[in-house]
Amino acid sequence: MNNDSRILRCNHCGTRNRVPRARLADGPICAKCRTPLPSKATLPAMVTDANFEQEITSFPGPVMLDCWAPWCNPCKVTAPIFNQLAGQYAGVVKIAKLNVDQNPMVAARFNVLSVPTLLLFNGGRLVNTLPGTLTKPDIERHLNYLAGGTST
Ligand SMILES: [Zn+2]
Repeated sequence: MNNDSRILRCNHCGTRNRVPRARLADGPICAKCRTPLPSKATLPAMVTDANFEQEITSFPGPVMLDCWAPWCNPCKVTAPIFNQLAGQYAGVVKIAKLNVDQNPMVAARFNVLSVPTLLLFNGGRLVNTLPGTLTKPDIERHLNYLAGGTST
């Protein structure tokens, strides 16, 4: 890989865009769908029962989905970590959140019995389910594994 450019995967359509490093600060957009590419300022994508197909199933790259609930204190503690990691892994792994109280269909489909639970997807397929609270290093370990997995 060329050190003068980075591959950023569009969070919207999943297309991989090669962006010269010198252009990263210019707010580059996806060559295919014209959506702004993920950046350090990117926050987790909000996934719902309604947009699940678009955001996860038809997304060609790796996704970490944080299943949470408003009444869950450990979820509140880890929320800033996911906000930070969404920027850190922008264009590499899509980080997303699902409120299980408001979106029972996805929660039931993937058998999410407790929160927090992390669901890991690649190419629209579930590859791992991680119930319970993880530390930031553990979350990053899974992100790095996802990032190094199969890509399109
Ligand atoms: Zn796109």
